[in-house]
Amino acid sequence: MTAEKNTVPHGHTISKSDRRELLAQNSKIIWFTGLSGSGKSTIAGKVEEVLNRRGFLTYLLDGDNVREGLNKDLGFTNKDRSENIRRIGEVSRLFVDAGVIVLAAFISPLKEDRKQVRALVEPGEFLEVFVNCPLEICEQRDPKGLYKKARAGEIADFTGIDAPFEIPDAPEIEIQSDKVSVEQAAEEIVRFVKPKIELE
Ligand code: ADP
Repeated sequence: MTAEKNTVPHGHTISKSDRRELLAQNSKIIWFTGLSGSGKSTIAGKVEEVLNRRGFLTYLLDGDNVREGLNKDLGFTNKDRSENIRRIGEVSRLFVDAGVIVLAAFISPLKEDRKQVRALVEPGEFLEVFVNCPLEICEQRDPKGLYKKARAGEIADFTGIDAPFEIPDAPEIEIQSDKVSVEQAAEEIVRFVKPKIELE
């Protein structure tokens, strides 16, 4: 019991493994990190399509469904970015507890923030996918016109331009999205993930 908060966890009878049995899958967080425009959302969406078709229950978290709801009070200072990732990590943890496979596509530029999400779940439940793409290519793609705005000084603290991206040291998977197609990237990720999400 936490003295200050007076909260005592209730000993519920249905556990994560009961829910996993029901869904016939092992829940995981598949965490996509990389520059804006590197292809995180596109590749995560393709992975989700493939997994869904093969009968896995997934849920995709990305900027669109998080920044406009749960995290709409947050901006892009380092403190807010960390809080953004912390909350997404906590939501992902709940999904994993629910038995669902989470695909999370966020720039998540800071190593420490990603490390903290990894630490929220059990060893092996967090799979980091580094979507590696040179800045020049991301900038050419500029799917949302954000690099143009950042270069024009209309957006401050933009990752890759005037805010850092810390490259993962040991991601479970690295995709060079300037060298492989979306389909090839998704296939590689599914090949890696499938044995881990199948129940023995
Ligand atoms: P992010 O989520 O990382 O900001 P998006 O997925 O929103 O990136 O945008 C990436 C853009 O790059 C999309 O318009 C996508 O169609 C394009 N693209 C071109 N080639 C690839 C590739 N091999 N992998 C991923 N995206 C690619």
